[in-house]
Order: sequence, then structure tokens, then C-alpha cells
Amino acid sequence: MTHTPNVTFYDFRKSAAKAVNDPNLQRAVDGATLRFRTHRAEALAELPDSDALRDHLKAIRAATLACLADHLETFERNAQAAGAHVHWARDAADAQRIVVEIAQQHDADLVVKSKSMATEEIHLNDALLAAGIEPVETDLGEWIIQLAGEPPSHIIGPALHKTRQQVAELFNRKLGTNFTGDDIPGMTEQARRVLREKFLSASIGISGVNVAVAETGSIVLVTNEGNGRMVTSAPPVHIAVMGLEKLAPTWDDAAVWLSLLGRSATGQPLSIYTATITGPAQADDPDGPQEVHIVLLDNGRSALLGGKYEEILQCIRCGACLNICPVYQEVSGHAYGSPYSGPIGAVITPLLFGLEEYEALPHASSLCGACLDVCPARIDLPRMLLELRADEVEQRIIPRQERLLEGSAAWVLGRPRLFRFLTGLGRFFQRPLARNGSLRLPRGLNPARDRQLPALAPRSFRELWDDGLSANDATSEEEGT
Ligand code: SF4
Repeated sequence: MTHTPNVTFYDFRKSAAKAVNDPNLQRAVDGATLRFRTHRAEALAELPDSDALRDHLKAIRAATLACLADHLETFERNAQAAGAHVHWARDAADAQRIVVEIAQQHDADLVVKSKSMATEEIHLNDALLAAGIEPVETDLGEWIIQLAGEPPSHIIGPALHKTRQQVAELFNRKLGTNFTGDDIPGMTEQARRVLREKFLSASIGISGVNVAVAETGSIVLVTNEGNGRMVTSAPPVHIAVMGLEKLAPTWDDAAVWLSLLGRSATGQPLSIYTATITGPAQADDPDGPQEVHIVLLDNGRSALLGGKYEEILQCIRCGACLNICPVYQEVSGHAYGSPYSGPIGAVITPLLFGLEEYEALPHASSLCGACLDVCPARIDLPRMLLELRADEVEQRIIPRQERLLEGSAAWVLGRPRLFRFLTGLGRFFQRPLARNGSLRLPRGLNPARDRQLPALAPRSFRELWDDGLSANDATSEEEGT
């Protein structure tokens, strides 16, 4: 494969093969994605017209992106009027620097965090650790994977790939406890005990943003654990990191967004905790941070506006496309080598982090279209997967061997006689290699790499068709006589 020097090529195929052969992962992912899919279907069925609501969300997201700069300025103005500090981060390094500097200004050596894909995207924990600041994840799933030293494997269920027995074993190894996999309440209580201390000692809380509302300068966070509220209200300083596309112009728009987010993600009409934050605590508020900082993260998003991939910015990060995807169900999230996995990850990862580095991801799809069917914003992920594949051909990113093969196939397919002659030859010469309908090609000679190619059928479709026509003609003649 010809790759540009200095580009780190991510080996999806190798990671996927490892995941496919991990029985614990297969069991955990099958169970969790099935539960998510079932709950989503039940929740949407309760709505009088979920299709119309999804159309409405799509229209809201498209209209917002069409004037994103204006909405962002409105948001900034109103957030500042409410007392929040708004920072613009061009890329991951910029966002890391902003957060670390705020933490250093407050002499923080410990920060508590709630689940945030944006902070995963910018590798914020690594930057904090490098600055001598300890980040502690407080969402239970995130805390589990932090203990395990792993990245999240699902947008809304970061530890979804682990069985409860594996979590118990992890707790026992890291915390000196003695849990069995059945003692889920005991493990949760243990996490609560450890994390409560952290909430009380941290001087900074860091969160993501599910949706920001321009008309009031507010940010909204949805969680199913109380940790999000503790992160945003117990420490004196709250920093929220948000992708700059996560914006709704009005509260009416945000209501549509939220009513589809919970249902599409976990099957809940609304997540258990929906927190709205508009600036820091006021004099008569019983609690809340004295300072609120909002970091608006670009990191490649604005470059997608107005182009053929703008639609990907309509994503509300519900995870429904992961749960329905046959590829995600087999390989799980880590195989994608990005915080964003599944069909959304297969599109947004190459767009944000480089098509050459992640050339395999647009091919990590059967193009069955199930992701489009379930997406609450009706994002046409299959279209963009095909666009990315076409870009790879145009930019000559695909392997040379594959390019030569596809060029030759196109040439032969345009010459029917030659095609018939070659398939006849192939039928003859494949005999020693064909078994049970598949070709057993030596590894280096198999152009499909990890997949087995089907053997040529003993008779071609054209031959069968011609036979069928003759048989039909004979029958018609008999019937006519
Ligand atoms: S692409 Fe659609 S289904 Fe997938 S996470 Fe985004 S909003 Fe949800």
C-alpha cells in the first residue's frame, strides 16, 4: 500500500480480527446492543408520529448549520451576558491549552469529569496529566474504563464491551475488593464511595455539552447518573467543552432534539437528569460554580460546512447507528481506533482525523442502510461512506493492487465476450481451489484479504436464463398446440 510518509496508518482489520475472536466482548456487545435496540423501538412506537418528529429534527439541524456562524455569535453574546466565559478552540491542542491554563490559574491538582466525547476527541486527560493535574472520570462506565486504562467503546456506553464478571475482576485487582460479577449494587456503591471524596476535593469540574441553546446562552447536559450534576455544581469552577455544531437556536428546537436523543439512545422519553446551566451561580442560588467556562471546539468541523459532508454535523450523538450496525456488533468500538465508532465513527473519524490514516473505516460497512433507518436526524451515512470511498480512489489512497484489480475488472466487464471466455477458463482452473462454494486462495493471492471469495458457479446466470427461456418457449408451444 502506498501511504504518505509520516502518516500513521491505523490498522482496523487487525483490531477487528482481535475483537471478533474475543468471546467476552462478543457476549457483552451482543447483549447491550440488543437491549438498546429494543428499548429504542419501544420508545419511538409510543410517539404519535415519530417519523414526522425526525423530519422536523433534520430540518432544524440543517437550518442551524446553514447559519451556524450567526447562531454561534448569538450563543456567545448571551452566554457572556449570563456571566459565562466563552473560548474558541481552533483545534485539539488549542482546546487542551485553554483547559489546562484555566486549571493552572486555579492551582488545581485534581479535576472531576463527566462523560464527554469532545474531551475524548482532544485527549484532554493526557494533557491534564502532562500538566500534573489528575483527571478523574465520574460516569460509572467512564470510571471503569479509566481504571482499565482503555478508551470508550461506545458513544453512550463507554464500558459496554465488558461483562460484569470482568468489571468485578477489575475492581478486585485495582481496588483490593472482593466482588463477584453478580454484586452490581456493591460495585456501584464502591464507585460512589471513591468518587464522593473526589467531588469534594476537586476545584474544577469538566463536562461536555449535549446541546447548547443560542437564545439564552445556556448549555444542557443529559445523564442517567447524578455525577453530571455533581461535576457541574460541587467544584467552584465548571469547564464545558463542546463541538461547535452542538447548537440549537431556540428552546423549542432543543426540545425536539432532547425528545429524540433519549428515545434513540436508551429508549427513555428523557434521560433521568437533564441539567440546564446558564452562567455561574447567582447570589440567591443555593449552590453552583462561581465560574463557568465554555470551550467551543472546531477541530475540523467548520471545514465541513457547505460541502458534501456537512450533513455529518447534524449528528446528536445518540449511538443508535452503532447499535444497529452489523459491523459494530461484531468488532465493537475499540477496533475503530477513534472515540467515534460504528457508522458515525466510520464517517466522522476520517473527516476529522484524516482519510489516509483511517482509510479502512469507510469500508467497515456492509452498506445495508440500517444506520440511516434508525438515525433520528436521518443522516445519510451510507451516502457519505460511498463518497469517502470515492475520495480514496480519487486521492489514490487505496492499495495499488486493489486499484489495478478494479481497473482490470472494469475493462473486462465492458467486453461481454471476453468476460464469458474468461469466466469459462476460471471455472476450469478453479477446480483444485474450490470447496463448498468458496475459493481457498493462498493468503497473498486473495484480493479480498480476510474474506473468502465465492467460487464461480458451475453454470452462469446467462446460461440458466437461456435454458429457462427455451424451456418456457417449449412450454408455450406445447400449450399453443
Ligand atoms: S449518526 Fe444519527 S444515529 Fe448515529 S449517533 Fe449520530 S444521530 Fe445518532
